[in-house]
Amino acid sequence: MRTEIINILADSGVKISKDKVAQITEQLYSLFQANSSKQSHPAFEKDGVTMIWCSRHGEYHPIEVMVPNKSKKDGVANYCKAAQRKWEWMHAKSTLVASYASNYFINDEIDKAKKLVDLGKYLKETKNIVSTFENITTDMSSELVVKICEDEFFADFPELKSKPKSK
Ligand SMILES: [Zn+2]
Repeated sequence: MRTEIINILADSGVKISKDKVAQITEQLYSLFQANSSKQSHPAFEKDGVTMIWCSRHGEYHPIEVMVPNKSKKDGVANYCKAAQRKWEWMHAKSTLVASYASNYFINDEIDKAKKLVDLGKYLKETKNIVSTFENITTDMSSELVVKICEDEFFADFPELKSKPKSK
């Protein structure tokens, strides 16, 4: 699927950078995935509760844990708030850690810089995989999800963890 999108972009004759191609490819790919998964997993009623397919977890949840989205038919997106928090954290950090990495390169901390580059790639590659969300449950608060993400991915980089808020 990704290869097809890249080929279409290449054949279109539009001159864009490699980074931009990668970015557009990712966006289109998730869009197609979200649409096709919604078609094959329609909403249904269970004990008076509307159940919606969560594409992050790969399972149905009650509608109230889903991210509200007025433009969607069911009024919600096809991902739950807790899983989406992790996805957004991974999405944001995948580019951020690359800039942290350059700081380490400048300071000659090459091993650490390389580890960060790898982490950035890993976050990018795994953020759309169902198993990534196994440690996230729909009842988790946004703060707890962020804490879990930091413990999971920043274990080797305590300096990147968010500072406790001072009163
Ligand atoms: Zn979910």
